[in-house]
Amino acid sequence: VDSNDFRKWGKQMVDYVADYLDNVEKRPPLSKVEPGYLEKLIPSSAPDKPDRWEDVLGDVERVIMPGISHWHNPNFHAYFATANSYPGILADILSDAIGCIGFTWIASPACTELEIVMMDWLAKMLRLPTDFIVSEGGSGGGVIQGTASEATLVSLLAAKTKHIIRCKSENTEMDNYDIMSKLVAYTSDQSHSSVERAGLIACVRMRLLKSDDKYSLRGDVLKEAIQKDKAKGLIPFFVCATLGTTPSCAFDNLKEIGAVCEEEDVWLHIDAAYAGSAFICPEFRHYLDGVEFAKSFNFNPHKWLRVNFDCSALWIKDRADITDAFNVDPLYLKHEKQTEVTDFRHWQIPLGRRFRSLKLWFVLRLFGVKYLQEYIRTHVKLAHEFEALVKSDPRFEIVTEVIMGLVCFRLKGTNEINEKLLKTINEDGRIHIVPANLRDTYILRFAIVAANTSSNDITFAWEVILELAEKVLHECNH
Ligand code: PLP
Repeated sequence: VDSNDFRKWGKQMVDYVADYLDNVEKRPPLSKVEPGYLEKLIPSSAPDKPDRWEDVLGDVERVIMPGISHWHNPNFHAYFATANSYPGILADILSDAIGCIGFTWIASPACTELEIVMMDWLAKMLRLPTDFIVSEGGSGGGVIQGTASEATLVSLLAAKTKHIIRCKSENTEMDNYDIMSKLVAYTSDQSHSSVERAGLIACVRMRLLKSDDKYSLRGDVLKEAIQKDKAKGLIPFFVCATLGTTPSCAFDNLKEIGAVCEEEDVWLHIDAAYAGSAFICPEFRHYLDGVEFAKSFNFNPHKWLRVNFDCSALWIKDRADITDAFNVDPLYLKHEKQTEVTDFRHWQIPLGRRFRSLKLWFVLRLFGVKYLQEYIRTHVKLAHEFEALVKSDPRFEIVTEVIMGLVCFRLKGTNEINEKLLKTINEDGRIHIVPANLRDTYILRFAIVAANTSSNDITFAWEVILELAEKVLHECNH
């Protein structure tokens, strides 16, 4: 396969992608294949001789597309938004072509330097405190991780190391393992499963604290938990607050939690995986007030900022907290400039890293901040349109306040009837949504996901839901 093939096939691929996205609403939002469908469609081992490009491209439709749930179909309303855009796709092509592994500055200086500048651009868009901004002389800076789960884990591990070092200096009789056995981390009962998992991976206790009646973690609950643990001789070291929880897009009380973390000298990490993108809009920025207490902050441009997966933005307030935490320095990775520059290998779990900042650069330049703000506003407006439709029917209720692009709703009545409604909606297949549990209440989550979702799609979704709810109610009454 040479560059002539690439030019020819590449043009066909670009056409295929543009046609796919232009017509994605004609495909079902949820794949209907059965497990194991794919192996029946392709040979059981790799070909000895090359296949023809035409056959490979043809097989995308035959083999792959039936097994795709089309997230960018405007009738896909499950999970949270996931981003894509032509600028992001173009940048990924370039990144793949350059194919550098930017673990150190010298491994490709542009890869490191663009990432530093892009993370500063983003930090300024969010109006993060200057501590996080390299170009403003901050002690910290940003790094692109693959996912919010990795960002939480990296932050937790950095906090763990920091506390172990500190405890050892204060209690010379304790070794690493004594200290580790006493460490405690905290998060709310609403936080994403990846936070609990980070605790499991790092082998530390993780307390899931009870959120209030708005599913928000409050400072007094955290304070009490920390004091109880200290009284038992344990060592509180890490709190993960969530802005925009996964079940209902609730916001922990950052100012209260932040003040407690400061008093107790505990590392505060903020997980704003979904909602973080909205903080580029001045009217939503106040949800981030209290970020000044955080040691680390993360959100996913790959969710709601039109940057294709993967691009999870993590800022650390103090670079040394992360670069000293995982520093192993073999000769083959050393270079002459390493005392003057950032080597992102110290800021993450893997060694290898892709040139992901290209996606941010292309997206931010080719859309501009104003467009991205309008994009967020449109999604929030669409969520409110859906909310109004739900409110217009007394058989339904809105479960939690609609703040971003997520509406939590249900039929008034039992969990069973709502489970039945959800199953009926997804079996019908015209739209796709997923449920969540809020305490013991089964709710339906309606998210604005696809970039091109319009008011017509909201009306359509509501009509489908009404039609199927009537069917479910009828069946339950007879
Ligand atoms: N945190 C929150 C609040 C989320 O909503 C999600 C996913 O939706 C995650 C973390 C996990 O994100 P990722 O897939 O980037 O690890």
